Amino acid sequence: MIDFRSDTVTVPSMEMREFMLDAPVGDDVFSEDPTVNELEKYAAEMFGKEAALYCSSGTQTNQIAINVHTQPGGEVICHWESHIYKYEGGGLAKNSGVSVRLLDGDRGRISIEDIRKWQNPDDVHYPITQLVSLEDTANRGGGAVYDYKEIAKIAAWCQENNLPLHLDGARLMNALVVTGQDPKLYAKSFDTISLCLSKGLGAPIGSVLIGSKDFVKHARRVRKVFGGGMRQAGMIAAGGLFALKNNVERLKMDHDHALLLEDTFNQLNWVESVMPVMTNIVVVHLKEKGKRDQIIQKYLDNGIKCMAFGEGMLRFVTHLNIQESDIQQTIEVSKKI
Ligand SMILES: *Cc1c(COP(=O)(O)O)cnc(C)c1O
Repeated sequence: MIDFRSDTVTVPSMEMREFMLDAPVGDDVFSEDPTVNELEKYAAEMFGKEAALYCSSGTQTNQIAINVHTQPGGEVICHWESHIYKYEGGGLAKNSGVSVRLLDGDRGRISIEDIRKWQNPDDVHYPITQLVSLEDTANRGGGAVYDYKEIAKIAAWCQENNLPLHLDGARLMNALVVTGQDPKLYAKSFDTISLCLSKGLGAPIGSVLIGSKDFVKHARRVRKVFGGGMRQAGMIAAGGLFALKNNVERLKMDHDHALLLEDTFNQLNWVESVMPVMTNIVVVHLKEKGKRDQIIQKYLDNGIKCMAFGEGMLRFVTHLNIQESDIQQTIEVSKKI
């Protein structure tokens, strides 16, 4: 099977597994796991921040960040299709008791003009705006990358208004590989960053939450309360460390593969349009919306898995378990559908 449903389906390579087997471990709730400590230090330094926290998932890192940055009754500004709102089971409300101001915006990205417009005034009628959260790359936006100039404007405005700025950077490394930007410079704009190790980077489990020392100290407490304090977590954190050290540059290959798919889809008569590919996600709009499940089944019959992505839409995600030959095979199959 060639599996394009998500870059979360990647399995650890033999090299990564060997590195994991050899990793020294200890009790991480006592901060005594050398591998977790090394991963946290490595991730923090990579982004020029003071500290980081290893967590079980990207949902957990986002939910912890929201919990630390807000108070019950407050409000978070984010895109209406953002993962923190759409795909985290209502965690914003359930875990932190906050409401949301959902903004529209091009391909999952929000603008400084809209954020400015929708920060609530200091008036007892309104919930207090307490956090702005961006997503880069934006999943529902088909892997869209923010223009850094826009991020810089948003960051400057947040600073002026004493509002923390969080990044759901599940696929941040994909964005940085495309723009070629230095992670440390990029990270300056954000108070906190959540980064998934278990997507295109290829680790089996985990995300890191990166920020200041004080923030991470508080986040560590919240992680424990959320049941996320893990013991000999170095066993799995080693996969994340290996991923950050070895699997960043190769994301470019995934982007090249996605461009090849985009090219092909654009020539097919059953395709209405393709969201212009920016990273490793290809979103296809079908001419006949009702044929979506039939097309997914045809791919499946030919050994290819892709995912429904809303009405009349398919998503193909490229990743490190997809080879050039898989792309060629997918192109051949696509032409016959
Ligand atoms: C995958 C993803 C996450 C985290 O998902 P988990 O499955 O909880 O690790 C967060 N944000 C975005 C944009 C994602 O794509």
